[in-house]
Amino acid sequence: MTDPAPHDVSLAYAETSLGDVAAGGFTTTPDPGGNSTTLSGTCPRCAGATVTVYRYGMPGLGTKGLRSWLGGARSRSAESEGPLRSEVHFCECGHAHPGLPAEAVFIGCGASWRIGAAP
Ligand SMILES: [Zn+2]
Ligand SMILES: [Zn+2]
Repeated sequence: MTDPAPHDVSLAYAETSLGDVAAGGFTTTPDPGGNSTTLSGTCPRCAGATVTVYRYGMPGLGTKGLRSWLGGARSRSAESEGPLRSEVHFCECGHAHPGLPAEAVFIGCGASWRIGAAP
């Protein structure tokens, strides 16, 4: 690997699907209470630091997929990695890239990606 690229803040916003990205650049930190997992890493498109908190299914919300996943999990580490491997992640570098739509949910460059299997 070369030196990490600086955050390209002048990059125009574009909804770009990047497909699978190597897991190596990302860290997941489960919340000690077991209610959320924090994913941090570098956006593969704009190279900005992106941090996303994933909350696990809350009772009563009817998030069927998450609930069945919680109910069936045996290992806590597998539990905390499961949804992160299956979710599509969006750049949340926090920088309003040029052209960011007013209704954008994530403040970033618009890139989305999935995290591939660990090497
Ligand atoms: Zn980005
Ligand atoms: Zn960015």
